[in-house]
Amino acid sequence: MIQEMWFTALFGQWGWLIAVAIAICINVPIFIWARVKKHLTLLGCLMAGFFGIAYWMINPLFYTLLFVFFISSSILTNYRKKDKKEVQDKFAKGGERDTSQVLANGLGAFIFALGHLLFYVLTNNVIISNAFVYAFIATIGTVNADTWGTEIGILSNDQPYWILNLSQKVERGTSGGVSPKGTGASFIGATIVSIVALIIEALWRNPLSENSTWQIFLFISLTAIVGFIGGLIDSLFGATIQGFFKCTVCGKGTEKRGHCNKPTELQRGSVRFRNDHVNFWASFIAGLIAFGIGCFVYLI
Ligand SMILES: [Zn+2]
Repeated sequence: MIQEMWFTALFGQWGWLIAVAIAICINVPIFIWARVKKHLTLLGCLMAGFFGIAYWMINPLFYTLLFVFFISSSILTNYRKKDKKEVQDKFAKGGERDTSQVLANGLGAFIFALGHLLFYVLTNNVIISNAFVYAFIATIGTVNADTWGTEIGILSNDQPYWILNLSQKVERGTSGGVSPKGTGASFIGATIVSIVALIIEALWRNPLSENSTWQIFLFISLTAIVGFIGGLIDSLFGATIQGFFKCTVCGKGTEKRGHCNKPTELQRGSVRFRNDHVNFWASFIAGLIAFGIGCFVYLI
């Protein structure tokens, strides 16, 4: 039995055409803005556009959460940009996000959105398709927590603590460094995604319509915590498996393979495990945790 999609339910047989038209009207101005403001490279823009339209067609809830992540991270990246310049020298990439960064932040959520679509449309298995929704929220929560934590954390004047040993301090901008400011921002980043999800669910009982109000409230609240934990997993991976290098000329630590026009030396982690991989795996793991929790909803 094939289930009806939201646009068919709203606009009838040709609803998909109307939905695509709305998607183009909303997305084109946003991506022109993103290009002009240099938030995304051209290919990054096209890929984000693909994710955006796919999420919109699968469920506007997904689209809105991506929108919250995209807009809030773009604004935070530009916030006090000059003050971040020195610290950003450590990062492999600057403020303009490219395709691999868009993939790192979007692929995990895309897998869960597809899972939701398959289980909802083809099987109408409410337990599994709803669990995919919780997974999606936690995945976007994680990437938002990571971006907020990084962009606000590097503005802190105090040196961050090393996540593996909190009595030790590391240089600002080091992956695996945590500060009270950054951790607080990370928590808010994850929570905002869940609050928006709650508001949309409250306004439009879809797609979690089979769950009772308190279940939806409890489980979406849990996704905020899972998203925050995902942000911590991101920092843990950053401190362990992510490649971190040292400049052979100036001695500075960096994620870059080259510094001062010379190749850098590997200090810890794996050369193959870059920040993009860390972002993907941390958000995917958080999604799996939320998926497990979501499957639990019918047992309580
Ligand atoms: Zn150097």
